[in-house]
Amino acid sequence: MNSEEKSKLLKVIEDRIESIKIDIEELQELIKPIPLDASIGRISRMDAINNKTINEASLREKKKILQRLEKALERSGDKDFGNCQKCGNEIPFGRLEYMPHVTRCVDCVG
Ligand SMILES: [Zn+2]
Repeated sequence: MNSEEKSKLLKVIEDRIESIKIDIEELQELIKPIPLDASIGRISRMDAINNKTINEASLREKKKILQRLEKALERSGDKDFGNCQKCGNEIPFGRLEYMPHVTRCVDCVG
C-alpha cells in the first residue's frame, strides 16, 4: 500500500469508527427494557421483543467491528499494516477500503 492509499484508508477507518459509534448509541437506546405498561398490546409487545433480539445481535456485531477498527488504527504505524495476519501477503486495497476492519486476505478468511 502506498502512502496515498494509506492516508485514504486511515480516513475511511476514522469515518467508519464515527458512524459505528452513532449506530451503537442508537442501538443501545433501542434495546432498553420494554416497559410493562398497558399501552402496548400483546402482538406489538412480541414484535418489540423480536426487534430487541435483532438489535442486541446487531449491537454485539457492531461493537466487535468497532474494536477491530480501533485496533486497525493502532496498527497503522506498523510496517506490516495492511498485510494479512495469517499469510503475510498484502491485502488488496479495495478489500481494505470496503472492510477496513479485516486482518486477513480473502484466501485466509474462514
Ligand atoms: Zn492471507
